[in-house]
Amino acid sequence: MTSVASGSRALRPPRTGRSNGQWAVDGREPLNPNEAFKAEDNGLNVRERIETIYARDGFDAIPGDDLHGRFRWWGLYTQRKPGIDGGQTASLEPHELEDKFFMLRVRTDGQVLSPTQLRVLGGISTDFARESADISDRQNIQYHWIAIESVPEIWRRLEEVGLQTTEACGDTPRAFLGSPVAGIAADEIIDPTPVIRVITDRWLGDPELSNLPRKFKTAITGHPSLDVVHEINDISLVGVVHPELGPGFDLWVGGALSTAPRLAERLGVFVSEADAPDVWHGVISIFRDYGYRRMRTKARLKFLLAEWGPVKFREILETEYLGRALPDGPAPAPAKGPGDHVGVHPQKDGRFYVGAAPVVGRVSGTILSSLGDLVERVGGDGVRLTAHQKLVVLGVPESGVAELVAGLEDLGLTATPSPFRRTTMACTGIEFCKLAIVDTKDTATAVIAELEERLAGVELDIPISLHVNGCPNSCARIQTADIGLKGLITTNDAGENVPGFQVHLGGGLASPERDEAGLGRTVRGLKIASTDLADYVERITRRFLAQRTAGE
Ligand code: SF4
Repeated sequence: MTSVASGSRALRPPRTGRSNGQWAVDGREPLNPNEAFKAEDNGLNVRERIETIYARDGFDAIPGDDLHGRFRWWGLYTQRKPGIDGGQTASLEPHELEDKFFMLRVRTDGQVLSPTQLRVLGGISTDFARESADISDRQNIQYHWIAIESVPEIWRRLEEVGLQTTEACGDTPRAFLGSPVAGIAADEIIDPTPVIRVITDRWLGDPELSNLPRKFKTAITGHPSLDVVHEINDISLVGVVHPELGPGFDLWVGGALSTAPRLAERLGVFVSEADAPDVWHGVISIFRDYGYRRMRTKARLKFLLAEWGPVKFREILETEYLGRALPDGPAPAPAKGPGDHVGVHPQKDGRFYVGAAPVVGRVSGTILSSLGDLVERVGGDGVRLTAHQKLVVLGVPESGVAELVAGLEDLGLTATPSPFRRTTMACTGIEFCKLAIVDTKDTATAVIAELEERLAGVELDIPISLHVNGCPNSCARIQTADIGLKGLITTNDAGENVPGFQVHLGGGLASPERDEAGLGRTVRGLKIASTDLADYVERITRRFLAQRTAGE
């Protein structure tokens, strides 16, 4: 599509001449209630109270600082009460929006989910989550309808098979994005799996890293498709080949979206596999020590990078945290091939991996359990989740590919999705999210079905991505979509207030279609009612196909 994108936008730095809550500069005096509750008691400590008190005494026994604060350190958020429309989101008190059930997030950190793990994930959904299960764009599984009484049993089942909810939310090192084809793709530059394993084993749940200014997102890939959205993570390690030192990683820091989006920047260093854990620890420690804590709206690493710039950031990393200089290194080559891995592909060992597309990440307990059975039946190794709300079945012998593809289709997880099913993502939205203004998952699902019908036979030779958000936050990465939709209440032709979207156009991350990432721009005044969304996307798609210039 025509790019109306720009690079990073300038972020206003925090005010000078007063404490901005940087521990290494200003000391540790908490400057707001959020910092105060974290200083009072580490979020990780709430687990013991959940297991011994709250699961026994029930929801009403949970005090506010734990319920709305520390529970996040174990992946738990209260969910939205059903039946409250988006027009009321801003006017009601938070407790009036809140149900007595939780969203629970399970992190996968790029690991392969075995058939047994898939069945455990599915069983938890069926037994405790009313069959709910969503694949998030950070390779998490998210449940809803979780009662506090069932949380200890859920942890027991997860941890028995090597899964966890530790620091899945909160001001912590959040779930790691790892290449879905790590270790198996024939064209891989370097396998990031050992690095992710060392870091998560060593530092996940470490109290020294569990009181960060805000969340800290990590992405690591060695695949030339650049498949972990590295431009919008706090730290990314991207596979490169150094002319003298061989394969390793290029280091990016300070990317994040939300209401003040900024793309990550390269520090220009080469990171060997052996150095990668220490470099990750150095960067997260810089964030802990120098990150701004006065205002949560300026607490992400991107604000510090905006003030320091990459040269100073590198210097502090090398001198204060690593105690040595890192070699200069090359930038990653332009993205090669689509990073969603949809379809059937050969592995380097002669077997196959198969990428499949649930609709906007929505699956269920039954689907996850059945997927485990299917993978086992065809002799596959397991499943990885992707950064696009999709999944990839790994290690399938050639003899099992046809049965797998047919079985995926039966489960509603097609390996040959339509273009819009393949490229559409949606955040949780009003169904469960307390911040939401509009519905997202059902709306996007209906739009995909409409477009499949209306555009049947129209050849879409390049992907057009559609990302649907339920509010001004950016959980579905609206600024990095060709068509990004930000939920709001708008006015229809009859003058009524109705759910709708502000349109952003022309965003995208590095891909075979565009050399570098760019942030989409708001199209001023362009607001679409949810009911008109399919019309709008159809119109803009047809216009693009008819009017684009050569190479566009
Ligand atoms: Fe909730 Fe808004 Fe995030 Fe969607 S973008 S999940 S509505 S906070």
